[in-house]
Amino acid sequence: MSCIFCQIAAGEIPAEILGRSESAVAFRDVNPQAPVHVLVIPVDHLGSAAEARGDAGEATLGAVMRLGVEVAAGLGLVEGGYRFVINTGADGGQTVPHLHLHLLGGRQMRWPPG
Ligand code: AMP
Repeated sequence: MSCIFCQIAAGEIPAEILGRSESAVAFRDVNPQAPVHVLVIPVDHLGSAAEARGDAGEATLGAVMRLGVEVAAGLGLVEGGYRFVINTGADGGQTVPHLHLHLLGGRQMRWPPG
């Protein structure tokens, strides 16, 4: 299995896991861009949000977002707020080709993003 996020989902390489559902896993980003920086991925490999089509894509995105919302609440981010980001493809700044939701919090976010 070559995909690094598939390996994290399978427990084959270490990560600080913060939450898990039947179809999604949340873990801390190794290079945090905010005091809280968590990634939420689908267990089953999907290259990017651009591939999340139809009923299966809807279910995948829903599962990832749901776990992201739950982890954000568990980390105490509801009052202060947080940001979800899904970088998609080259222009979107995606570097790991396995769909992932960034959960960023613990500081004031800026807009527009870089
Ligand atoms: P993106 O640029 O949207 O594709 O984001 C990829 C993210 O994955 C970056 O924020 C990286 O810091 C993070 N990342 C890469 N490898 C690992 C890893 N082994 N464990 C945790 N986060 C990782």
